Amino acid sequence: MSSAASRGVLLGACAGLLLGLNDFGAMWLWLDMASDRWVLLNRVLGLLVPIGALVGAVSAVAVLAVAHVLARIAPARAASYALADAVTLWLSPALVMLAWALFSGGSASRVAGVALWKPATAALLIACAWVGTHLLGLVIRACESARRARILAAMLLVSAQLLIKLNQWVLPNLYDYLHGALALACFALLSVGLGVLASSAQRLRHATASPALGAALLLLSSLWGAHHVRALSSNQNVAVAMLDARACHTRALMLIATPWLPREHPPARPHRPSPRVDPSQSSIARIAPTHSAGAHVLLITIDALRADHLGTYGYKRPTSPKLDALAAESLVFERAYAQAPHSSYSLSSLMTSEYLHETLDLGAPPPNATLATTLAAAGYHTAAFYTLGIFHTAAERLGLYEKTAFGFALHDHQDREPEALTDRVLSEIDRALAQGEPNTLIWAHYFNVHEPYRATTFGTTDIDRYDSEIARADAAVERLVREAKRRFKRDVITIITADHGEEFREHGGVYHGSTLYEEQVRVPLIIHGTGMTPQRFAAPVELLDVAPTVLGFVDVGRAASMRGDDLRGFLERPSAAPPAFSAVIHKRMVVKWPHKLIADLRFGLFELYALDQDPTERRNLASKDPALLSTLRDEVYGWLDSLALDDNPPDDPRVLAIDQGRLGDRRAVPSLVALIQDESADTAMRREAGAILGKLADPKSTEGLLAALSAKQPLVAAEAAIALGRMHHTGGRDLLRNLVLSEDPDIRSRAAVSLGRLRDVAAVPALIDALWIAPNDYEREEAIRWLGRLRDPRAIEPLISLLPESRTRHLVVIALGAIGDPRGFDTLRDVLQWEDHANVRDSTVRALGMLKDPRGLSLLLPLAVSDPTLKHATESLVRLGAIEQGAIGGIDFDKRTRAPGVTRCTEFSDRHDWDYLHRTVCETSRAQVTLHMSLPSTVVQSAGGSVWVMAMRRVDGQEPATVSVQIGQQPAQQVPVDSAWTEARWNVDAGSLSEGRTRVQLNVMPESARLALDHVLVLPR
Ligand SMILES: [Zn+2]
Repeated sequence: MSSAASRGVLLGACAGLLLGLNDFGAMWLWLDMASDRWVLLNRVLGLLVPIGALVGAVSAVAVLAVAHVLARIAPARAASYALADAVTLWLSPALVMLAWALFSGGSASRVAGVALWKPATAALLIACAWVGTHLLGLVIRACESARRARILAAMLLVSAQLLIKLNQWVLPNLYDYLHGALALACFALLSVGLGVLASSAQRLRHATASPALGAALLLLSSLWGAHHVRALSSNQNVAVAMLDARACHTRALMLIATPWLPREHPPARPHRPSPRVDPSQSSIARIAPTHSAGAHVLLITIDALRADHLGTYGYKRPTSPKLDALAAESLVFERAYAQAPHSSYSLSSLMTSEYLHETLDLGAPPPNATLATTLAAAGYHTAAFYTLGIFHTAAERLGLYEKTAFGFALHDHQDREPEALTDRVLSEIDRALAQGEPNTLIWAHYFNVHEPYRATTFGTTDIDRYDSEIARADAAVERLVREAKRRFKRDVITIITADHGEEFREHGGVYHGSTLYEEQVRVPLIIHGTGMTPQRFAAPVELLDVAPTVLGFVDVGRAASMRGDDLRGFLERPSAAPPAFSAVIHKRMVVKWPHKLIADLRFGLFELYALDQDPTERRNLASKDPALLSTLRDEVYGWLDSLALDDNPPDDPRVLAIDQGRLGDRRAVPSLVALIQDESADTAMRREAGAILGKLADPKSTEGLLAALSAKQPLVAAEAAIALGRMHHTGGRDLLRNLVLSEDPDIRSRAAVSLGRLRDVAAVPALIDALWIAPNDYEREEAIRWLGRLRDPRAIEPLISLLPESRTRHLVVIALGAIGDPRGFDTLRDVLQWEDHANVRDSTVRALGMLKDPRGLSLLLPLAVSDPTLKHATESLVRLGAIEQGAIGGIDFDKRTRAPGVTRCTEFSDRHDWDYLHRTVCETSRAQVTLHMSLPSTVVQSAGGSVWVMAMRRVDGQEPATVSVQIGQQPAQQVPVDSAWTEARWNVDAGSLSEGRTRVQLNVMPESARLALDHVLVLPR
């Protein structure tokens, strides 16, 4: 046993040495100074060699011990098999962890049946490891001669080396767990290869088995390793390099060790209010260069467009001649930063003017007010054109904005090429003009610069194609700006910007969403308007500032939740501009010109760059300038504190808890629970604590709230009951039934909503009153929703009387549909006659489906055929039984669906009840799928032919796939599919279909692509 341990030490140490040299080889050129390179080599080896020795020793002992036990249990089996079994067992925990990591987080966690996938994948991995170790054992035993053994060792070492390179180059920066697993595999391959090599030489075999040698090496290397662990953060350059994606084995080690590493505990410091400008106090109005109350607003964002690839930002290649010309007569912000290098966070921060990446972490609710809601409240017509692909990351956290479309009245999510997007936006402008040119906010999001880049004007490398897509966007955007200016009769304020940049291995990675270096977070920001003095602004600004600035230009008050600055206030004194912040995963960035700090607060790692002298961020000054480091680090902490707390830190910890709770910080829950139960505290504070606990809905507060039901102060008990109801807890039901009779309009409305949440019809009369007396919009909207869900016909007339109000109309029609009373039908049909807001029309169509009134069928069928913007028309037809009744043909996939190539039909829970059709979905299991459907005579004999509507999405990747759909003997129809649900439509001529069963053949390209299918409907025209 001791000789095995000694071999383990030696082989593990050598494997660690080879991995360390590889990491160093990938990194050393990146470091600036020879001394840093030397420290890096020393540190990487000082960590990997001792860890390798330790892991080698433990593995050897553990494997031999297990093999020994196994050999005893089954003495008839060959000892070598027991050894292979033991190795498999030893690897199993790591494989189980890998399987779990593969199906956690991101889109994988939303895969149907994820609870089964995890153990199944773990079992598969373990089975593969078992087969692999046994095969390797066989091969090793077959190599008896020294020569054969050396050949095998060489093969093992070469494949280990290839795997190391793969680990370093494939998607660095992404999928930490995968790189960790590969690092482990590299280590194992190297150890086995070295072991086979050693065994081929008689003398070496004896030497390595010496226990004294092993023990001495283990001791020495452990001392060496301990020294390096202690010195980990002594050189920031080196510490940062060790977390670089290219040093993937060292990085894996560091990430595994995170929880045990010494952490930075910043000293408590007096809170410093953030240097934001209060627009009402400043002299903005006086110094602002222009001011166009009532102007139209055209917000243009170009996905993944980094600033430095535009001519106006100094790019040499002529990618953007037209935007450059426009910039020459505009305000150009030379250093604008996205608040995150992802579309989802960045665009949501732009629309809400809030640091959502941080505030959602703090547990704050996402603000409801956006640029669109604020302008809509001031009478603007709002329309947005963007793909839902922008919600790819963080969809769960930003679901509110995916659902509400950032508050835009009209929202169109079709994926369009840049030219077609310009056409679509111009048609909306024409529509607004035809309706008397109301003040209009339009947001257009161009997506073609995002990978995959296809255009090849400048060549075929990644950068060439990226630049070629920029040139396409340049032409399309400029045409939009020019035409919008020409067609609108009033002024137009145009903003051109991007959600983030794009990396081309400048810092080892590709795409975006992984780092805070300039290529990923610096974006263009150009503001253009009639009479604006052209000016270039050099100080750093944030996308957060866009909404307040736009609102300032058009003279509309900003929402209270908006945190950005009206940039007009700084145009004449750039030095007053506050620093810019950004964040990704665990890293935070501050730019205070000319310095930039990237801080990883987990490790206490800092990168400090002087952007004026080192624009490509190569020379980390963190160790050289500790004073500057500490100033900028304080900026980061000050910024995070300012998000967590109010600007005036109170002395009373209870006030502090209330402040934190208002910001949605769940850490305040225990203090608030104590406060509401504290009979000696001020009643107003206790009530506030109860109200906040209701909003936070933290299960940890349930017991405290139940106790507070018997508070001596009736108002405190009332808040506790309302809070419990908000959390769907029935503990306060009896009290709520009394509270809905209260004279106080505030208590009565909020109690009604809470009682409604308990599905108690006693809430209905008070909910109806709440439509007029509710203290705020939120409670009022909740009252409308719960009146619908409680399905009480008494609510019909009051709801109908709310219809003239446009702001809540989309909720009212849904409630009317949900109640399901036939009296609602005439009303909804009337709404369709006169309503022209696309989202309200769509909600009405959806409500007609929920109403289940058979008259809806003949009303909706022509609409479903003629108006593709009514997204819910097909859903409503299916709900009304159109397929069963033979009014339309087709399939709504469900659990009973059986077809070749179609598997895994899943029914989603009611949680998804806003997407009725998508509740039943099937997936394809191969490239060819055959569907058989019967076409009713109404469809086949329809004089106008038929419209085919097919809803699907790609489930295994982002890149668009194509489906060719062949109906009977007709020519095939090509339909693009990407990862968001889309309803494709196409027409089929009259007379080309025959009655009865028809074969529909789907061919998916590329063949590996897998689709989720929701429905195929055939509507008569
Ligand atoms: Zn994006």
